[in-house]
Amino acid sequence: MTSYDYDLFVIGGGSGGVRAARMAAMTGARVALAEEYRMGGTCVIRGCVPKKLFVYASQFSENVMDSKGYGWDFGDARFDWPTLIANKDKEIARLEGLYTKNVLAAGVTILQDRAVFEDAHTLRLLNSNKTVTADKILIATGNRPTRDMGTVHVIPGGELCITSDEAFHLEKLPRRILIAGGGYIALEFAHIFHGLGSHVSLVYRGDKPLRGFDNDLRDALVTSMQTRGLDVLLGCEFTKVEKRGQSLHAETNKGAVIECDQIMLAIGRMPNAMALHVEKAGVELGKKGEVKVDEFSRTTAANIYAVGDVTDRVQLTPVAIHEAMCFVETAFRNNPTKPDHMHIPSAVFTTPEIGTVGLSEEKALAMGFSIDVYKSSFRPLLHTLGGREVRTMMKLVVDANTGKVLGCHIFGDHGAEIIQAVAIAVKMGATKKDFDDTMALHPTAAEELVTMRTKSYSKNPA
Ligand code: NDP
Repeated sequence: MTSYDYDLFVIGGGSGGVRAARMAAMTGARVALAEEYRMGGTCVIRGCVPKKLFVYASQFSENVMDSKGYGWDFGDARFDWPTLIANKDKEIARLEGLYTKNVLAAGVTILQDRAVFEDAHTLRLLNSNKTVTADKILIATGNRPTRDMGTVHVIPGGELCITSDEAFHLEKLPRRILIAGGGYIALEFAHIFHGLGSHVSLVYRGDKPLRGFDNDLRDALVTSMQTRGLDVLLGCEFTKVEKRGQSLHAETNKGAVIECDQIMLAIGRMPNAMALHVEKAGVELGKKGEVKVDEFSRTTAANIYAVGDVTDRVQLTPVAIHEAMCFVETAFRNNPTKPDHMHIPSAVFTTPEIGTVGLSEEKALAMGFSIDVYKSSFRPLLHTLGGREVRTMMKLVVDANTGKVLGCHIFGDHGAEIIQAVAIAVKMGATKKDFDDTMALHPTAAEELVTMRTKSYSKNPA
């Protein structure tokens, strides 16, 4: 029998790679992990965690405004960007240290190196110029922001734009920022910068942001953004970007020229698989450059698996971790386990937040369900004295035949926290009657979910 240096070699020290390495090592396997940058991956280093810290930072301005109606006066509140960046960097370094410590404690060898394939069992480590062999290999290299926007990409000045990677390290807070895109990252950063005091213009090519989300969420979001004073430019794209003096000028397809200090592209992310030389190992890539996998996360090479964003299935940290756990069950515990991608709750950390689980009204109808819809829009209690025009929207999409709750959608304060708990009920197949039979908890916003007695409307599939 061939002997390899390791039983498992993991490429990538992000959420998926770290979890797989630790869990596999705990079965007694000899495991090594290569990470070329910093342990923790996108989520910890330049994604979910620093983003959420920025979101918190951005919300204090509104909290201060709201506090006035409650009798508080904080005088002239000021925000200092360098303090936020320094404190954020300190916390990220602490988390990175914890990640490294936990991986080492599990008995995994960490190599700070870039690994590329030589064949299906051999990897070359480019920094140290060594080769290592492994019985099984896991590709968990994640993805990165794309700068390929078609138009902007090819025009002079496209390179003047930043992505979310750079947004975490700007030297100063831009006074005016233009953000391109209508997905998670564009919307979250639009609200972050707005809350911190920048003037924000969101430029999105479609008719409303968050394609694929429930239309009521999308409408509530656009209304809220406009009420807050963000510029939302729909059906709009850049045609040209140039630097004039200290500022940037973006020309749009609508003939407008927008002057600003930064332009951020948030137009999707691309898998980090192109430079791995996977072809040498018999691993096939898909159209977007993602690693193709089967239901068990196995690639087209029998001993090589892939999890997380590099597979372009569902780009969410908990999903990568779940896929990693299933991989270890399959490959190291003799218990073939398919990741379950149903009923994944998700949040967009706008202000207020979007929390959603299950089917949108549009998706439910497209799937052939006859549906009953329960909807509520109200002014949360906090804002009665706060005085700002803030509304919460909650919606249940119910299967008219079985009463099962197919989807729950929230736009409002703490929407993400609420939806995590609702996701348990939806995953368990709870019916509208189960929701009705649940005692309300008063006074909360979430009680609305169990007190919506009157159907708003019913719809049948076309
Ligand atoms: P998304 O896929 O969410 O959004 C990409 C956006 O860019 C879409 O609005 C898309 O428009 C637009 N777009 C794509 N190509 C172009 C183009 N050529 N010109 C102009 N606009 C374009 O990607 P993100 O980068 O925002 O986020 C990546 C993923 O990361 C998300 O899908 C999500 O899974 C994950 N994420 C999750 C977060 C969370 O859980 N809170 C936070 C951040 C990221 P259109 O819709 O018209 O195609």
